[in-house]
Amino acid sequence: MLSDRVRKLKPSPTLAVTQRAAELRAAGKDIIGLGAGEPDFDTPEHIKQGAIDAINKGETKYTAVDGTARLKDAIIAKLKRDNQLEYKPEQVLVSCGGKQSFFNLCQAIVDPGDEIVILGPYWVSYPAMVELAGGQPVVVNAGIDQDFKVSAEQLDAAITPKTKAVFLNSPSNPTGKAYSHAELKALGEVLKKHEHVLVATDDMYEPFLWTDEPFANVLMLCPALYDRTLVMNGVSKAYSMTGWRIGYAAGPAEIIKAMKKVQSQSTSNPASISQAAAATALEGDLAEVHKMRDAFRERADFVIAELNKIKGLRALPSDGTFYSFPHCEEAIKELGLADDVQFAEHLLNEAGVAVVPGSAFGAPGYFRLSYATSQENLEKAMQRIGDLLGRE
Ligand code: PLP
Repeated sequence: MLSDRVRKLKPSPTLAVTQRAAELRAAGKDIIGLGAGEPDFDTPEHIKQGAIDAINKGETKYTAVDGTARLKDAIIAKLKRDNQLEYKPEQVLVSCGGKQSFFNLCQAIVDPGDEIVILGPYWVSYPAMVELAGGQPVVVNAGIDQDFKVSAEQLDAAITPKTKAVFLNSPSNPTGKAYSHAELKALGEVLKKHEHVLVATDDMYEPFLWTDEPFANVLMLCPALYDRTLVMNGVSKAYSMTGWRIGYAAGPAEIIKAMKKVQSQSTSNPASISQAAAATALEGDLAEVHKMRDAFRERADFVIAELNKIKGLRALPSDGTFYSFPHCEEAIKELGLADDVQFAEHLLNEAGVAVVPGSAFGAPGYFRLSYATSQENLEKAMQRIGDLLGRE
């Protein structure tokens, strides 16, 4: 009855963990959820007010498929202000979350047999979306010993005549690491050489960065890639607006037009009210965003120090996001478990802490922990994991 396509599709494992934790909670267990991929802060008040104003003004009808003129202008101004990148309205598409932006992109550029090079550990949805479009994900993985960062040589070796695009994400979900400017430049030089390859830079965690260097993506450092790079971003994480579902893509007009065609036959425009809220967010300053960033940074320092005191775990200092991606191979062995999936189940069942196994991100032997929760929860979670696994 079901299509081959959908039978091959795996459900999002991050949502599966959240679901399992919710079930245990419903059964009366005290579960600390460190699995979810969203900020724990409320959407800032002035953004909510922007949505309320839109409702009161009657902005409740279909908008242009690719987004309202107001929101597209706000996106263009943001890309100029923060990224020194220039775009015209026909180079911008607003979608129902960053997820739909990537979905549209895959549908627009991937033919059967095309390869998409994904720098891993990767965001769970990239390979599934490539496969749904009939393409072949080619994952290039970097482990903890190379700071979770793929080298220029590795990227070069992965590109073939069949490569359609390269997807990269920095700061990274799940690792919390960011490529340095020099590392991005080196990747950019490889991409410059392979002229048939498109580039998608996923900048979803742009403001949650605390390296000495300011944020940069590969296009900002290699402007020569402008005609074949898609900048993918959104308001979900930056403004704590995950439920509003607004993401956007900016890039070559021909590709944006094709992505818009896909969207016109699926969802049409994202919700008019969410678009008004997103415009309010982007038109405003970054004060609230920086407050969140500072809170995440403080929590990162605490969580990573605690993780490294626990037997069999190793976590790198983080550069940004609200994730840590500890190595847990030794703990797995010590416990006599088979893999990271069993390890995550063990933490959930025995310590009441929900995390996501690394294999969901193409990196077995690790787990992803989100510190987008209260300090109290984090302290309790670290205590429980430490009690379960023992301390160094
Ligand atoms: N890209 C990355 C790296 C993400 O982590 C996420 C969300 O988890 C997205 C894109 C999509 O965000 P959304 O669809 O919620 O806007």
